[in-house]
Amino acid sequence: MYKMNFDYYLSLLNNEPQELQSLANEKARNLFGQTITYSRNFFVPITRQCRNRCGYCSFVSDDVNSWITPDSFQSLLEKAKSVKCSEILLTLGEKPEEKYETAREFLQRYSCNSTVEYVKMFCELALEEKLLPHSNLGVITLEELRNLKDFNASLGLMLESSSVRLLDKDKAHYNSPTKDPKLRLEVIEDAGKLRIPFTSGLLIGIGETKEERIESLMHLQNINKKYQHIQEIIIQNFNPQKGTPMQDYPPPKEKDVLLTIALSRIIMGSNVNIQAPPNLNRDRIFDLLNYGANDLGGISPATIDYINPNMTWQEESHLGKNLESEGFVLKQRLPVYPHYEKYLSRTMRKIIEDKYRNEEIISP
Ligand code: SF4
Repeated sequence: MYKMNFDYYLSLLNNEPQELQSLANEKARNLFGQTITYSRNFFVPITRQCRNRCGYCSFVSDDVNSWITPDSFQSLLEKAKSVKCSEILLTLGEKPEEKYETAREFLQRYSCNSTVEYVKMFCELALEEKLLPHSNLGVITLEELRNLKDFNASLGLMLESSSVRLLDKDKAHYNSPTKDPKLRLEVIEDAGKLRIPFTSGLLIGIGETKEERIESLMHLQNINKKYQHIQEIIIQNFNPQKGTPMQDYPPPKEKDVLLTIALSRIIMGSNVNIQAPPNLNRDRIFDLLNYGANDLGGISPATIDYINPNMTWQEESHLGKNLESEGFVLKQRLPVYPHYEKYLSRTMRKIIEDKYRNEEIISP
């Protein structure tokens, strides 16, 4: 069965790209109509220290001063509230305490034994302000996921690629042992066991083949079939950054990005939202939608995209008008999609009910 499906997807990609586009578009519009969602978020880069060193990453740094302290976080929460964000996006390097003495010392100052504990403290602070955290901590254990579950509206881990080749010398993940797809798929599966609304996705153009893209999506859908917890798949295009080992590596071809969006729409189940970042695709937003995307991910009115600092977001009102001109409707959503709210703790659901249910944010 696996082989049959794989061959079908590959033949669509190779021989019937137009058929693939029209199937994906039809499926997306049948499932979601003309509604395109996004989450108004506030991006907080908790720390840039990281135990990995990916070839394309300009976010990572050895500097212990890159940590955000609880005091400065509190003022960021105030700012987030003032611009009416609902999502606090916590992004950080992976388990820096395993690599840096300075990170261990920093965490100890706040009585934390790990970055996971530190992030949990931040999630609690955000929830006190009725802001909904979505955290990306990289590869963590089942126990650590369990500890974070009740303090996050959703959690995320990009698979990026199921290709083990990318761990080879001179490839994108050579200095990043936890980019081993086996470890990442385990985390995604563990999140399923714990019924955590989960975000994953692919990074396109880091040296993977189209066959490996199909395999990556099939792995994700296999896990999702068992646990039904993957709420969205991000198809993110590699964006070369100055100062990184892959700065001269070419960005992916447009057709590869668009056809992977279409494939993900076909492969993933009906409840899975397909997301493509508008700031990385400014000149082809309608193409993203016509190839099956129904979500534009996090858009911040007040912060930059710290992972792709050279790529600014369009203002929401401008984007909304733009979409309207082609018959789409832009709607704000929460960092958890309505279908997945049933997985959340009572406390989290109460915050959503009390604070967000009556606002113009998509809710059941
Ligand atoms: S991409 Fe993530 S895991 Fe890789 S070096 Fe950057 S912060 Fe670390």
